[in-house]
Amino acid sequence: MSDLPIEEIRKLFAFTRVYLDQQHDLFGPSLPDLITSPEITVDARKKAELLDSYYKQIANCQNCKLGKTRKNLVFGSGNPDAKLLVIGEGPGADEDETGYPFVGRAGQLLTAILKAINFTRQDVYIANIVKCRPPQNRKPEPDEVAECMPHLKKQIEIIRPAIILALGATAANTLLANADSLGSMRGRIHTFENTPLVVTYHPAALLRNPNYKPETWQDVQFLRKQYDSLVQ
Ligand code: SF4
Repeated sequence: MSDLPIEEIRKLFAFTRVYLDQQHDLFGPSLPDLITSPEITVDARKKAELLDSYYKQIANCQNCKLGKTRKNLVFGSGNPDAKLLVIGEGPGADEDETGYPFVGRAGQLLTAILKAINFTRQDVYIANIVKCRPPQNRKPEPDEVAECMPHLKKQIEIIRPAIILALGATAANTLLANADSLGSMRGRIHTFENTPLVVTYHPAALLRNPNYKPETWQDVQFLRKQYDSLVQ
């Protein structure tokens, strides 16, 4: 490691810290405790196994051209038995580097937004419409989305969330099969294959335009209310 340039070492430490924070968020201070905890239901263990097995099946996926340029396939992370599934657009540079969704600045903002409505990342599962980074962070193209959606659908089938939060227009338009503006989709309940779905801004859009924050706050309070009515 001593031969690495200082910038690379800094980056390595930064990603290690993000990874450890994320593992702490997901599993608490002690992973072995979680694995043996009687509080983890048989259903949750089964879902974790199914997700792990599906991840192994698609780890080398080359079904679309994004497979050629990615560093890491970003499968998704969080609670396999989550009742809230959060879906974004696609991995960015930090996610491509680490293989985990929402670990960059937008991810930190997402964690803060979830915390504001009393969710930790341990409570939810987070995934994206496409699992490999589009070059230069462009929007995923229709053929890429079409190839990748079966992977997300499989995850949804395994997790069986009570409600989905779609982040940004790309995620919402894809899941709802429409071309509506984000503004027109906010503030009401939609459904994705019988699962209730709520729409709000993507955290990356909030970083670019903080004026969207009050509306996002309204959206996530609406989400929390719906979640509480669905999950006893
Ligand atoms: S984006 Fe999806 S379909 Fe395309 S290579 Fe990656 S995992 Fe496969």
